[in-house]
Amino acid sequence: MYLSIQNLSKTYANGVKALQDISLEIPTGMFGLLGPNGAGKSTLMRTLATLQEADSGTVQLGNLDVLKEKEAVRKIVGYLPQQFGVYPKISAETLLNHFAVLKGITDKKERKNRVDFLLDQTNLYEKRKRNLSEYSGGMKQRFGIAQALLTNPKLLIVDEPTAGLDPLERNRFYNLLSELGEKTVVILSTHIVEDVKELCTNMAIINEGKVLLKDNPKNAIESLKGKTYQKIIPKNELEIYKKEFNVIADKLFMGNRVIHVMSETNLGTDFTPISPDLEDVYFSKILQ
Ligand code: ADP
Repeated sequence: MYLSIQNLSKTYANGVKALQDISLEIPTGMFGLLGPNGAGKSTLMRTLATLQEADSGTVQLGNLDVLKEKEAVRKIVGYLPQQFGVYPKISAETLLNHFAVLKGITDKKERKNRVDFLLDQTNLYEKRKRNLSEYSGGMKQRFGIAQALLTNPKLLIVDEPTAGLDPLERNRFYNLLSELGEKTVVILSTHIVEDVKELCTNMAIINEGKVLLKDNPKNAIESLKGKTYQKIIPKNELEIYKKEFNVIADKLFMGNRVIHVMSETNLGTDFTPISPDLEDVYFSKILQ
């Protein structure tokens, strides 16, 4: 399966250009869509999930025209929205069964098998009788994935799934997604660089509705090799450094301010050369 997005654009009624001529080729595997809040990620995800219209452009999923053949696309797309928000006082098993009915799995036995399989795959089987309202953040996200998988999708879209999860829950969720990415096109939209670094074989960085970079994380990092430097500076001198250098990160470490600078030329002994990471790539693109 292959997803091809060509020249996709969307301007909202208030004039915000949420997508500006987006083109992406996305093969089977985990694809990271990285960008800050307001970049246009959710607009793109909702368009791919056939929940909203684009103004222009095309999207092809296998043989299907995603923007036109919506009914057919919905049968092979699973979507976990940013705010899934369905956590009533009924059990995970009951609600998943209910969703399965809505998705048209009418045969009772087939439905039970599918529900049991997904609860097992998302590691919720033992807790299936518990009310969703009592689930932890990570369990709720895994339930969200279980419902998105009911139709056995060829394309799975997950929008900001790890926000609010603790490190252990996040890890569990990563494992689940990377298993799914072996057979499915999985698009993971996130502002968390770590998510993409850990999981994705291909990625794009978007901001203000435009694609700033498409690559695999390894190449993207290698492109910055030999160009990143670090320096510990007095806390109140950040603005001075920003004027003189291309500062791509500033962090506090043990109370000191540490900056990362990108430079094509050697910055001399004042700065320490460092190995770039994906976060440097991200900020070098977002801040340019
Ligand atoms: P992200 O998911 O990356 O945070 P969004 O796709 O939600 O970005 O938003 C992209 C831009 O479009 C933002 O400036 C946002 O305020 C705007 N936007 C999103 N939804 C709407 C809408 N329904 N009407 C008008 N503007 C919107």
